[in-house]
Amino acid sequence: MEWKQLPYKYPTPDLNSDTVVRQSIINQITLCGYRKLLEGQEGYLDAVSEPMAYGSAVHYLIARHLELGDIPHDDILKMDVWIEEMLVTDYDWSLSQVPSPRDFFAEIEASYAQWRMVVLPTLPPLITQEQEMWMYLGEGKQNNIYLKGTPDAVFEGVVVDWKTSGRAWKETKAHKALQADLYMALVKQNLGVSIRDWIFWVYNRRGRVWEAIPTKRRIRDIDSSLLRAYDYGLALEASILPATPYTDTFGELRRGWYCSAKFCGAWNICPAKFLHDDVNENELAVRSW
Ligand code: SF4
Repeated sequence: MEWKQLPYKYPTPDLNSDTVVRQSIINQITLCGYRKLLEGQEGYLDAVSEPMAYGSAVHYLIARHLELGDIPHDDILKMDVWIEEMLVTDYDWSLSQVPSPRDFFAEIEASYAQWRMVVLPTLPPLITQEQEMWMYLGEGKQNNIYLKGTPDAVFEGVVVDWKTSGRAWKETKAHKALQADLYMALVKQNLGVSIRDWIFWVYNRRGRVWEAIPTKRRIRDIDSSLLRAYDYGLALEASILPATPYTDTFGELRRGWYCSAKFCGAWNICPAKFLHDDVNENELAVRSW
């Protein structure tokens, strides 16, 4: 399969029967497919964490600024209202479970102020932001396979993704990010503009600084990633998602960091987590901040 063979016009996806692949699903399956299979079953713990909620709040402020040309003063003053709403809606969580809302708000506000000062002046004119995009990847064994994604912001000549991170990113992380390949294809298919430049603007929370990490993609990189997405779509459609609780380094099997009570939402209900190692498999996972 090559990108140039994929049609711009295709049947509207039927969410009941077609298979939809997203970059986040691929990342999840890459760690352990079984987790995806168990997601939503009784006993599965949906992820919630301070870094996730922090990132969502910073994304919200940036998107509001780009939409309105500035942030209404109320958005800052009433941070408790919209953040509470975001926590409840997106994470089934609440502000009362956040240890120090005041510190949480202060850091969100500081990262937004930095963005305004350092990042905003560098941005070209905006084409669109947070627009849901689709493309057809091909036929599955039963129905069609689609790719779906929502780029943070598409500017003239460059696609930008906002990240918040506990520490600085390594450049290689940007060069290897599947998200850039897939979203560049989505942008071309949906907006008709060809963009090969991408910037991850990463807020390093430890250093309290926004850092730009530019990366590029060639057509063959995008072809290869689309093929990968299609193959994951076929696996999803067939529900063939094997458990991979380990990483395999030169024949040595070791439990991956993600196969733990702390990091896997399926831990309490997973029958595939048992390995002969020193991890306490009877530990009970709890949903916590
Ligand atoms: S507990 Fe381990 S094996 Fe089971 S789904 Fe999670 S990561 Fe996979």
